[in-house]
Amino acid sequence: MNKSRKPRWRLAATTIGLWLVSVVPLVGQITLDGDFDHGSLDEAGSSAVGNFVSLAGRDNYNPGEWKWLYFSANGVSTSQVTTFQIDDDFTFGGSKLNGHAMVYSYDQQNWLFFDNNIRNSGAGTFTFWDTTPFSQSQIYVAYGLPYSYQRIVDHTAQMTASPWVSPTASGNSSLVIGQSPGGIDDLGRVVAPRNIFGYQITDTSSTFPKKKIVLTSGIHANETLGNHTLEGLVDFLNSDDLEASILRKYADIYVYPMANPDGRFAGYNRSTVEKVTFDPNRHWESPNYDGQSDIQVVGEAMIADTGADVDYFIDFHSTVAGKTNHFGWVDMDPPNEFHLDPFWQNLLVLEPTLGTLDSSMVNLTAQKFGLDALSANFTTTFETQFIPGENIDRFQTLGRNFGVAFEQAVSTFADLNFDSELDTQDWLLFVAGAETDLSALTPIEAYEQGDLDGDGVNSGLDFGLFKQAFETANGTGSFALMLTEVPEPSIGYLTMLGIFFFSAAIRNRPRRNS
Ligand SMILES: [Zn+2]
Repeated sequence: MNKSRKPRWRLAATTIGLWLVSVVPLVGQITLDGDFDHGSLDEAGSSAVGNFVSLAGRDNYNPGEWKWLYFSANGVSTSQVTTFQIDDDFTFGGSKLNGHAMVYSYDQQNWLFFDNNIRNSGAGTFTFWDTTPFSQSQIYVAYGLPYSYQRIVDHTAQMTASPWVSPTASGNSSLVIGQSPGGIDDLGRVVAPRNIFGYQITDTSSTFPKKKIVLTSGIHANETLGNHTLEGLVDFLNSDDLEASILRKYADIYVYPMANPDGRFAGYNRSTVEKVTFDPNRHWESPNYDGQSDIQVVGEAMIADTGADVDYFIDFHSTVAGKTNHFGWVDMDPPNEFHLDPFWQNLLVLEPTLGTLDSSMVNLTAQKFGLDALSANFTTTFETQFIPGENIDRFQTLGRNFGVAFEQAVSTFADLNFDSELDTQDWLLFVAGAETDLSALTPIEAYEQGDLDGDGVNSGLDFGLFKQAFETANGTGSFALMLTEVPEPSIGYLTMLGIFFFSAAIRNRPRRNS
């Protein structure tokens, strides 16, 4: 009897042991946390059983719905697939989740899109999982590419080291223009006041009158792609790229990167912490902005810093209106007809998939503030969309193309002293550069000495480009006329290149068909 019993005991004990090892540690093993900068999760309503995580969204602005989601999951399996599910009570309707892809990260910096993202409208659920198990047991999961308040702090700290960045009239040496009010958020947490930043990007060696460009983002708390696009633009503006260097000669760029820091930190969907029932983009009215102190800090700084007379105003947002393309709200009606502005037209060439939607210039939006309070000649609310596969690098490129489009719109080619006139002064600079070794110079230094095609030398090719640009700007025959009025050195230059003779020969050559 004992003989037959013992194996059964052992078998049972072994089975229980295996069950304990394989199952018990998994139950309740995953812990969820949305309590960090920019995090958002209804933790109490969320739970994990085994490898299945049931999520509840949190939204301070549209109760009962959700629009922003960002949390960490600790203890996820590295050998089995983890599945997440949330209801589809999404702001503006569950259909806005059709075609959407959630993202995850191990370090909150590099993000990946989940392989599988399924909305079941009948069940009212949105379910997402990766086909293979995670490689680490702690992951971060978000609705879209996050952009925390701390990211603005860190990026702005980098800006203080840039030779092209300086405080605005409203700012201090840390590029701080004021503080947000802080407050108590919908979860009862104390949100401390935070720095609001503003700074100016330009090349101070260029002292001729400049175009003024105002850039802002982060008004709506969850519209992170607007911030990624603006960061891409700012990084370009601080680069040694020739287009960026030229743009800095012609433009003062005023950057206010995070207009609603409290809302961003608190993981809000749309509003500030101070005025939870307000749409912060409907109260841009100097001087008190309906009591929105954070918006007031930014708006008043824009007015004081720019002298309330700017050329361009861009407010970077994000939206969920379909998963098609990014687009600008641009007033196409007379007298504004902003869509005809060379900047916008250049941007559409660089970014052919961008859309232009006719803006009705809604009152008390930042876009309208740009027109009314800052007298902008062009103003837009630019909307980026959360599109599966479009990662941070996409928005870096998009931001860069904004910069190139600005450069093309405000610069004059071959204007080597950057006074927006193509004249004798530029020709003399061009000639002086012909005697200099340009090979060790930065792209802009070489350009200033006549390397117009970026090949590292001031050669006959550059001469052709200069002459063509001069005649385009000043009329046919204007270049030869100018040569008769300039000092000797330029004639020496032409002789050196043999171009004067060459052009004369072409001019005098009989035409075959005449
Ligand atoms: Zn928005």
